[in-house]
Amino acid sequence: MSHANIAVFVPHRGCPQQCSFCNQHIISGAVAQPTAADVDRACEQAKKGVAAGDTVQLAFFGGSFTAIERGEMLELLTAAKKYVDAGFLNGGVRVSTRPDCIDDDVLSLLKAYGVRAVELGAQSMDDRVLSLNRRGHTAEDVVNASRLVLSHGFELGLQMMTGLYGSTDEDSLETARRLIALHPTTARIYPTVVLKGTRLEQLYRSGDYQPPTLEQTVPLCSRLLQLFEENGVRVIRLGLHAQDDIERQMVAGAYHPALRELCQGEIYYRKASEQLQNRPSGDYQLLVSPAAVSQMTGQKKKNLLRLAQQGYRCLVLGDENLQSPYELKIKEL
Ligand code: SF4
Repeated sequence: MSHANIAVFVPHRGCPQQCSFCNQHIISGAVAQPTAADVDRACEQAKKGVAAGDTVQLAFFGGSFTAIERGEMLELLTAAKKYVDAGFLNGGVRVSTRPDCIDDDVLSLLKAYGVRAVELGAQSMDDRVLSLNRRGHTAEDVVNASRLVLSHGFELGLQMMTGLYGSTDEDSLETARRLIALHPTTARIYPTVVLKGTRLEQLYRSGDYQPPTLEQTVPLCSRLLQLFEENGVRVIRLGLHAQDDIERQMVAGAYHPALRELCQGEIYYRKASEQLQNRPSGDYQLLVSPAAVSQMTGQKKKNLLRLAQQGYRCLVLGDENLQSPYELKIKEL
């Protein structure tokens, strides 16, 4: 049994303005706006790859779903509801939207059409950063909208970004702490990538903005990942989806197709470093779950090389008895 997600992109649909970093046509790869027929097509196509017992959810992403003109929104929801009622979309429908486009009326409507999860693009909980990046809402809007989403019985998802114009590592960590306090079930973390055709591109080209590099982003995002996970929040995405268009259309910023893997490797490195720091230099075995051997080793053996620089020559081995995430045992050789 697995979880199948059918994504239907509504690029920029409903957005009242243009955020500094956003170009949904590049991010989603979608150009045209979907119709009911596209929802039908996506569901019929998905039926071919779904096994009995799988959980299937349809997600409307890439715009401000609850701010879409009501008739158009209902057209899409009606198309999806057919598949909810028929039992195919047994995981219901998921929508993403802005925190300032949520109220009791629209949430009641979503409920009636089989929506189960609402994701809010919070991006930052610092009003200065929100304003500099032309988000058009405040941190208080995120708090109010989150409470409203939960009070209507939806699963809450929250999205945040790092490295925005005017943002620091400390305010990203504070954003994560404040989002966790809102009790989301899921989170998405997106390091800023400067895309063509955005306000950030202008700021970058004029020299007013320099996005963090991948080397700066991995330590921060690994801390955010750890913070969310330790507080029971499932991080369902870290970094933009890998696709050719992003690599062609990005101007600068921290993009890597396997960013999550890099961040997980960084967490293992920190754990090993902490556990070794009071031990004498020498040769050690690092035991982790078999699935985590490559993360402990790091890309191009980066973690082992860094530990060796501190005087610890390490060998990584998989141990079937260690199954918890980031569990690590160290043995002296
Ligand atoms: S970030 Fe979200 S709200 Fe802002 S322009 Fe893009 S899709 Fe619209």
